[in-house]
Amino acid sequence: MSLFKEMGINPDIVSGLEKLGFEKPTPVQEKVIPEILDSSTDIIALAQTGTGKTAAFGVPIIQKADIHNKHVQSIVLSPTRELANQIYEDIKSYAHDVKGLQITVVYGGTSIEPQIKKIKKGSQIIIGTPGRVLDLIRRNILDISSIDSLVLDEADEMLNMGFQEELDKILESTPEDKQTLLFSATMPKEIVRMTNKYMHDPITFEMGKRNEASKNVTHEYYFVTARDKYNALKRLVDVNPDIYGIVFCRTRNETSTIAKSLRNDGYNADFLNGDLSQNIRDEVMNKFREKHITLLVATDVAARGLDVQELTHVINYQLPDDPEVYVHRSGRTGRAGKKGVSVSIVHSRDKRKMKAIEKMSGLSFVEKDVPTARHICQTRLLHIVDQLGNVEVKPEIEEFLPLVNKKLEHFSKDEIIKQFVSVEFNQLLAYYKNAKDIQPSARKKDQQQEDTYILYIHIY
Ligand code: ADP
Ligand code: MG
Repeated sequence: MSLFKEMGINPDIVSGLEKLGFEKPTPVQEKVIPEILDSSTDIIALAQTGTGKTAAFGVPIIQKADIHNKHVQSIVLSPTRELANQIYEDIKSYAHDVKGLQITVVYGGTSIEPQIKKIKKGSQIIIGTPGRVLDLIRRNILDISSIDSLVLDEADEMLNMGFQEELDKILESTPEDKQTLLFSATMPKEIVRMTNKYMHDPITFEMGKRNEASKNVTHEYYFVTARDKYNALKRLVDVNPDIYGIVFCRTRNETSTIAKSLRNDGYNADFLNGDLSQNIRDEVMNKFREKHITLLVATDVAARGLDVQELTHVINYQLPDDPEVYVHRSGRTGRAGKKGVSVSIVHSRDKRKMKAIEKMSGLSFVEKDVPTARHICQTRLLHIVDQLGNVEVKPEIEEFLPLVNKKLEHFSKDEIIKQFVSVEFNQLLAYYKNAKDIQPSARKKDQQQEDTYILYIHIY
């Protein structure tokens, strides 16, 4: 594999990439960057989640920008504000050492004035969500009539969110001869439609098989009854003391319900959905990126394209109807070559959905038993003991040790160990003391019950 500097990328961009620890290009970067640099052909790039698509378009649009010209030269459209911000931060860091390049991000839900000011000063690259971009075009602030490139990231999601009209209008404001670049992990029919409509004789670069899920993710599932779902979620979290993940729900309502229950049960959880104000959304995202929140309960829309470092788990509290959505969800973990786990909490009626996902994306689900109370308690206890062994001992403690030793004088070593671990452990033990195990073998009986229930509803 070649290095960035051998691909014709300017040294000031290579140094930005090196600062980020990017040593070698990923496959999509290796294929697509030279192509965008050398030609003005439209390009469709399909590559698995977490394989560096942002730099694949970000690097060449930085390099193609003429910093002596203050006009907008490239625009990147993204479905959500969070993703627009992330792309902005990413492109800014690739361009860290590029002098004079101006990049602006624009999105709704926040004051338009500073955005107007910044655009007026001149920006070569604009990143934005369709609504706000169109608003700025209509106000004659944003002029994209002479851009060289237009990037569509997560394009299908823009259509799913109902941005068709905005996209049409934005596209009408761009010149015929621009280069259109479309990046996606999957190729749903919306994207096929879009490429037919907005692109001219595009070249398609496809990494791996179409719609393929990330190879770094293992896909597990727990088979439970509807009523055990939440408890199964809790057990999954309890058995993974260092869990850092996104819990996917299907509705906005459900995200807040689940996050609140988790919080009441003592977990660092919060939720992200389109009903929240932009301030709150930013706050939640920041807390999550800083790990003050370790479980983010989110809708598909809110989490599309998000790149959060080192997520350990993606949890599907509800499976999506659309197999492609599963690929995007599970791709929030296992990024940049790291490993991740996607766990789905399913019941018997989800089997069909799972088959469809397996068929479309080439992955296979592995059934796992919901962890037993005993297993959870043992894992957690050993985790506490590991922490005890690894904790840094500060010199300041010395001064207090004689007092502590005196107080513990009458305990034996074994007793001290027992007392110390119990401090941390009693609560968990109490919770799991009488907890019945969630048995997948209960499925048959339960399925009958559920079926009777459905029948009952149908009769009424
Ligand atoms: P995608 O859009 O394909 O899902 P992203 O562009 O969000 O993926 O990148 C996923 C992760 O990989 C990011 O954390 C990014 O910093 C990292 N990454 C991208 N390119 C490289 C590279 N060449 N070397 C190392 N890490 C990279
Ligand atoms: Mg992306």
